[in-house]
Amino acid sequence: VVGIIGGGQLARMCAPAASRLGIELRVLAARPDESAAQAIVATTIGDHDDRDAVLAFARGCDVVTFDHEHVPLAILEELVADGGLVRPGPGALAHAQDKLLMRARLAAAGLPVPKWARVESADDVVSVADSLGGFPLVLKTARGGYDGRGVWVLTDASMARDVMAGAPVGAEWLAEAFVPFTRELSAQVARSPHGQVAAYPIVQTEQVEGMCRVVTAPAPDLSDDLANAAQQVAMSVAAELDVTGMLAVELFETEDGILINELAMRPHNSGHWSIDGAITDQFENHLRAVLDWPLGDPRSRAPWAIMVNLVGGQSTGSYNDVVLAYRHVMARDPEVRIHLYGKEVRPGRKLGHVTTYGADRSAARARAEHAADYLMGEINE
Ligand code: ADP
Repeated sequence: VVGIIGGGQLARMCAPAASRLGIELRVLAARPDESAAQAIVATTIGDHDDRDAVLAFARGCDVVTFDHEHVPLAILEELVADGGLVRPGPGALAHAQDKLLMRARLAAAGLPVPKWARVESADDVVSVADSLGGFPLVLKTARGGYDGRGVWVLTDASMARDVMAGAPVGAEWLAEAFVPFTRELSAQVARSPHGQVAAYPIVQTEQVEGMCRVVTAPAPDLSDDLANAAQQVAMSVAAELDVTGMLAVELFETEDGILINELAMRPHNSGHWSIDGAITDQFENHLRAVLDWPLGDPRSRAPWAIMVNLVGGQSTGSYNDVVLAYRHVMARDPEVRIHLYGKEVRPGRKLGHVTTYGADRSAARARAEHAADYLMGEINE
């Protein structure tokens, strides 16, 4: 029995893999209408920061893993002390919860990260600005950000003042050099407790307003040297932090090589292509890894896979409208793979994704974008 804390789409997409492998999946979701709660019968409703709810849920599971990184470490430590298997463990997960801790640890391990500094006030930002290459600078909250929330590009000190004044008391901050990246990449590995690692092909990710929009697998025109270096970085991070399960390392590619941006210790949006495009998808390898079973082959099944997120926009209709729009997309392109997460439509919300694959990258991309635009009501033919 694998228990997943958190009821989002990542937990939901573990279900087909669990079903194939014949293992029981249980979910602790905050609400019955959450993505995974709709799809997985063995769902308990409870909050991830409610100690009693988490401990009671974990007692019914052989191993506990996560849909997100927000479970308080103290609860997880108690769970481990109680004899529970928590994968990834709290010692690893701390680095996915706290960007300050992550930057410090990776820098100390000699891994490539942007220049950074801890800051507590706008005055601090001004005093570290020069050492970070001057403005523009990137200001981040250490904890709680996702999809670009909690990240600001500062053009001057007054902006730092405004951003920091509007934040909750006790927020912790880091300032970072603005990296003039040529593009963003993601390196995913699965790592099991006994140390087996499966490295996925390096993919290219494209963000719109901080949110992932398109993933291309493998990253086009990436040299073998850089692809190997990126895989090595992800494997080093996984070993250094003793990550178990899936790890995603979000990377910046620059003129001088790669830098680590962010870590996620769970299945990740940059790996959704693997459901239809890889021999073993990230959800199955996450389950295998947390169970300490042999890992599946992470290689691609097609020369190119393109994943486009379905993000609600101003012209997106209701959930039913999206489902009705299926028929056009399915009839036009029987090969397009559609994944909907069961979430109510809201502008800016990730509702699902589509994947195409094939030998012609630009054709696959055009098909995926057409399907996504049609489903989101951006186009009507
Ligand atoms: P989140 O944790 O919310 O996903 P990230 O740290 O991944 O936030 O940042 C979101 C986006 O902001 C990144 O995908 C990138 O486009 C941009 N960004 C973050 N850090 C930097 C940086 N140091 N330099 C330039 N752009 C950055």
